[in-house]
Amino acid sequence: MGIHFKTALLPDGWKNDVRLELDGGRISTLSEGAAPSPGDERFEVGLPGMPNLHSHSFQRAMAGLAEYPGKGPDSFWTWRDLMYRLANKVTPDELEAIAAQAFVEMLEAGFTHVGEFHYLHHDAGGRHFGDLAEMSNRIIAAAERTGIGLTLLPVLYMRSGFDALDVRDDQRRFFNDPDSYARLTEAARTHLSQVPGAVLGFAAHSLRAVPEDALRQARGAVDAEAPIHIHIAEQTAEVNDCIAATGQRPVERLLSEFEVDSRWCLVHATHVDRSEVDAIAASRACVGLCPITEANLGDGIFPARQFAEVGGRYGVGSDSNVRIDMSEELRLLEYGQRLQLQARNVLSSSDSGSTGRTLYSAAFQGGSAALGIEPEGIAVGGRADLVSLRLNHLDLDGRQGDALLDSFVFANKADMIDTVWRNGRKRVADGRHVSRAEVGSGYRGALASLLER
Ligand SMILES: [Zn+2]
Repeated sequence: MGIHFKTALLPDGWKNDVRLELDGGRISTLSEGAAPSPGDERFEVGLPGMPNLHSHSFQRAMAGLAEYPGKGPDSFWTWRDLMYRLANKVTPDELEAIAAQAFVEMLEAGFTHVGEFHYLHHDAGGRHFGDLAEMSNRIIAAAERTGIGLTLLPVLYMRSGFDALDVRDDQRRFFNDPDSYARLTEAARTHLSQVPGAVLGFAAHSLRAVPEDALRQARGAVDAEAPIHIHIAEQTAEVNDCIAATGQRPVERLLSEFEVDSRWCLVHATHVDRSEVDAIAASRACVGLCPITEANLGDGIFPARQFAEVGGRYGVGSDSNVRIDMSEELRLLEYGQRLQLQARNVLSSSDSGSTGRTLYSAAFQGGSAALGIEPEGIAVGGRADLVSLRLNHLDLDGRQGDALLDSFVFANKADMIDTVWRNGRKRVADGRHVSRAEVGSGYRGALASLLER
């Protein structure tokens, strides 16, 4: 039995009547201009599944709970205090339930692989669990249950600021030194090896939270080719602290002290000057943009047009998971630029197709590189991570080629995706994850007990 798409986006562009056969989670045959065979499942529009390059899945549980002002001026830092209150309550069972819900919603949104930037390692007092990787294992279990592809990025976190020697009491759960970090990643690696297509990467929380020597030392805990992720220059206070501590801006500092290359993902990189924009692009590192979260937290706007003009690579992430919506991440990325520059179709260029096509292709390529997965797309031998847009959707009527993606990115009301396959298995049908009810009730239980404590 095969899968037939009326039209599909292949690595060399849109093709009509695309028929696929799958084997072992991969595409074994692909024919273009082919009629459906008897017994084929028939779909309208086929797209490659999108990587979600940055997530803290536990934060899904506080979506909508931080939208009121505090006593003083409200900022990222007051939000972080609220987030820590949640982080310090979450048990392993609750983490697994929340992550599973976030992963269900990611698959429903067309994200087929997630980079989990995971720093909730120990119990609330900072005491190690019997298995040092207990919390990582819960993320892995949630990925297995829901079927999403996983790049696990255990996070090294050692201090509360550039001048600090230790973490704050409310950051004890995050703390590892390079030795315990190495043991934790080794333990997680064993579990991760059971998951098809899973990748183990390295993450340092930020320059403010990790001394440079420790970053160099801990980085050896994962393979030489593994992805390397770091939050950088998300907030102006962090930029100022970095200048005070090192005499350099965060991105400038990172690029001068480390061999930043295509294995690296610089998450946010919001506050960068022209020379930093050029230098990131030249390094071939990917910038991890999380437009919904960056807007929600009031971070600022990354100069994406400048960066794209010099060939910079970027992808998108759902970060705080306040809303999980792939098309909206792409839409808001473009709209932020339009509002700032008072111009339209800012991130497309004449050779990259329409704006929707440019955003989708760039985020697919950049996100794949950032997560250490091959950007195979819909091609023979490629992993069958596929998204189909809904048959006969009102906003897709009369569209073809790039106009389909433009309608998906700019007109989608979160109801256009009907089917999602990950590793060859249909995980979303008729817009709903096949385990949505069961995962949702686990999530509700976890949330009820979290909110009453
Ligand atoms: Zn983040």
